[in-house]
Amino acid sequence: MAPPMGDLSLYLEDHHEMIRSMVREFAEAEIAPVASRFDESEEFPWDNGAKMAELGLFGIPFDEEYGGAGMDLLAAVIATEELARVDASHSIMVGAHTSLAATPISRWGTEEQKQRFLSPLAGGQVLGGFGLTEPGSGSDSAAMRTVAEKKGDRWILNGQKTWITHGGVGEIFMVGAVTSPDKGTRGITAFLLTKETCEPLEAARVGFGHSGELTPMQGFTVGQKLRKLGWNASDTRELIFEDVEVPDENVLGEVDLGFRIFLDTLDGGRIGMAAHALGIAQGAFDEAVRYTGEREQFGKRINDFQGVQFMLAEMQVKIHAARLLTYHAARLRMDGKPHKKEASIAKLFASEAAMDVTTRAVQLHGGYGYSREYPVERMMRDAKITEIGEGTTEIQKIVIAREIFREYGKI
Ligand SMILES: Cc1cc2nc3c(=O)[nH]c(=O)nc-3n(C[C@H](O)[C@H](O)[C@H](O)COP(=O)(O)OP(=O)(O)OC[C@H]3O[C@@H](n4cnc5c(N)ncnc54)[C@H](O)[C@@H]3O)c2cc1C
Repeated sequence: MAPPMGDLSLYLEDHHEMIRSMVREFAEAEIAPVASRFDESEEFPWDNGAKMAELGLFGIPFDEEYGGAGMDLLAAVIATEELARVDASHSIMVGAHTSLAATPISRWGTEEQKQRFLSPLAGGQVLGGFGLTEPGSGSDSAAMRTVAEKKGDRWILNGQKTWITHGGVGEIFMVGAVTSPDKGTRGITAFLLTKETCEPLEAARVGFGHSGELTPMQGFTVGQKLRKLGWNASDTRELIFEDVEVPDENVLGEVDLGFRIFLDTLDGGRIGMAAHALGIAQGAFDEAVRYTGEREQFGKRINDFQGVQFMLAEMQVKIHAARLLTYHAARLRMDGKPHKKEASIAKLFASEAAMDVTTRAVQLHGGYGYSREYPVERMMRDAKITEIGEGTTEIQKIVIAREIFREYGKI
């Protein structure tokens, strides 16, 4: 059953509703029956990836001339939300690819870079990723140790990234490296790197995830799949760079000015992460409403108890607020308006709402909530990453506080 979300016509246009119903139908038909199996096996869902590519879900906000659907960020947010409502390992496939890999190329890339890299990403031929975090630098991402040294018309990259979504299955990555060690954040450059998917047989079988037109770079390898609490079907790995030769034309934006591209990408990525959180919360809420309407104790349906009704009401309030904050931040970014604070507010609020709503959904299922028979335990595990990825809750508070002081004139 479609969850009643209230009248959202103040925020959404026809194409947003259209993409919502298309993605919802797909997620319920193709993802819901296999989500738990992929969570258990921790395998990457190649078949569904290919179907999502077929539906155009990897290029929603990008121009049609680059193989995209020519829609907008809000449409991508809604698609992410609807996928996450059923399974967050699937939603992050579209989310990380769209907001972290393809978007910076579309916003900062040259025409030639868009043709070479955005087209295969937006057209759903290959998957992309974003390499910022390193073993020693997460929240303090500017402390990265990966270096790029200039040699003629190329750069030689050495270093390591960790926790990279699509690390193994992806083929195009935006990676940060220090190019002027004495210049702090003004000495970091964004590079576009290519490698071959680590599952070429699967990619060939489903006809998605590999392009013969991209040249894999020597010395760019990946580590083993990292095992996680949730997002288990998402492929997360280390990236390793050993004397990787990157030509000048693969510098995204300007040399030494890459950090602002990462920050801009994170502003958008936080809206995307809020959408995952919102979708997970909505999915868990739908399950909780259904279950509390069926389960009987003390001779009554448990949703007859006011204590249960209060819990459902509190969950609904958080979801509604998370949705409006997320759509609002997306609208600001779409319109080219300042949105740093709003993106962090949406991400912070929605991720905490997701954790709270999923935990309560498990509680409302009693012992069955703790069992793998019901999806709410997976949703609770998947929700946790939304408080960590794209900047932890604490980092969002730092960003919001900085913006407050900027607006009030302290800084
Ligand atoms: C499943 C998964 C997928 C990911 N995908 C990607 C990806 O695709 N690309 C990528 O680049 N990264 C990715 N990440 C990395 C993610 O962005 C980082 O894990 C995150 O930014 C936190 O960094 P950290 O893990 O090093 O934690 P740390 O920075 O070490 O933080 C540890 C704790 O200290 C707190 N803390 C740190 N600094 C402060 C401070 N100044 N004030 C208060 N508290 C502070 C943090 O909030 C946290 O609670 C992924 C992570 C996971 C788990």
